[in-house]
Amino acid sequence: MSDYQNASAAQWQQWDEQHIWHPYSSALQRPDIFPVVSAQGVRLQLADGRTLVDGMSSWWSAIHGYNHPVLNKAATDQLANMSHVMFGGLTHQPAASLGKRLVDITPAPLRRVFISDSGSVAVEVAIKMALQYWISKGKKAKSRLLALRSGYHGDTFATMAVCDPVTGMHHLFSEVLPQHLFAPSPNVAFNETATDADMAPIKTLLEQHHDELAAVIVEPIVQGAGGMRFYSPHYLRLLRGLCDEFGVLLIHDEIATGFGRTGELFACDHAGISPDIMCVGKALTGGYLSLAATLCTEEIAVGICEGEAGVFMHGPTFMGNPLACSVANASIDLLLSDDWRRNIARLQRGLQAGLASARELPGVKEVRCLGGIGVIEMEHPVSMASIQKRFVDAGIWIRPFGKLIYTMPPYIISDEDLAYLCRQMVAVVEQESAR
Ligand SMILES: *Cc1c(COP(=O)(O)O)cnc(C)c1O
Repeated sequence: MSDYQNASAAQWQQWDEQHIWHPYSSALQRPDIFPVVSAQGVRLQLADGRTLVDGMSSWWSAIHGYNHPVLNKAATDQLANMSHVMFGGLTHQPAASLGKRLVDITPAPLRRVFISDSGSVAVEVAIKMALQYWISKGKKAKSRLLALRSGYHGDTFATMAVCDPVTGMHHLFSEVLPQHLFAPSPNVAFNETATDADMAPIKTLLEQHHDELAAVIVEPIVQGAGGMRFYSPHYLRLLRGLCDEFGVLLIHDEIATGFGRTGELFACDHAGISPDIMCVGKALTGGYLSLAATLCTEEIAVGICEGEAGVFMHGPTFMGNPLACSVANASIDLLLSDDWRRNIARLQRGLQAGLASARELPGVKEVRCLGGIGVIEMEHPVSMASIQKRFVDAGIWIRPFGKLIYTMPPYIISDEDLAYLCRQMVAVVEQESAR
């Protein structure tokens, strides 16, 4: 091994500090960044010997926890066989099986699968599918998108342009981002029925702009990184109807919500509807490898390919990566072999019971839970610099943003660990509100 690989802990941590970008970080002011040396089940082991109960599932992805023997075996078996081959002109069982599996577990109209390497790329692909579909149909003017405020769809340029225009990066990149349309964030609670008044703003936009609209893009039921907001399946059902009425495609970004997190396998299942195009990612490989997929209906696929180009114009180098597909197949097997619905209901009860007392604390605006997601919304943004360290000192891994302190733990978390996670979250919130 080279000196690089043999580096002492102090040495590599210094290299990290000197050279490595972390998500949304400054090169000038180093935030607290905690070195991890291993992870097992729901526990992260820090370099200083402390262990943390993980409340983040590594951003919605590690649903089965860390170092899972079944997923490890899928990876090592595939590694011994072939870790990667190009997907142009070649194919293999891991990708074919994954495609078939995804078609079988998503709503019936979704029949064609494009496998890519990250969530943002899956959304880029979805947008390109919608645009290419209308180009093929001779309706080039249908080139804009309609998104929701408080939405989040990724960090690449096409996806940034459909993120929330205020909390997203529109201002910074206003010169280069395409200008899309935005409807208000749905203001209909999960258990409520949407009224005509609730649908009026988005209906008006569709009425006025359908000639230039290729698609509506939404995160179904849960708006994640844009605000951790939950909304009604009925809104989603009515939106499906409006898209049909005005001849606009519907894209569901299920990258955060897919694979059981909200209590249904996919969030659109709460509404009993299907989008024309759906994106999945994050939990797809149980948090092991970067992989995502974009599914579309036969109508979209055929429409695209009947056009001038004759093919769908996309093909990433690592498309259909066999290693990632094998782990994804094992992860989905693992999820479906369990009584996942009952388990997510258990998480929801545990989160509701464990976080309820935060409601009484000063500075707390709202506590809400859905499936395996628990959110404490504060009145004011928290100070990351101080609160991050306090979560670690409390023995849990929680990474808030803005006013939102939230958790979506691995599905395998025990009742005891879940109670501990919630108790410590509430304790840190109590310290925060006492500041
Ligand atoms: C995380 C996320 C993305 C982007 O996925 P990456 O893998 O980070 O590129 C897109 N949409 C939603 C809803 C997400 O939560």
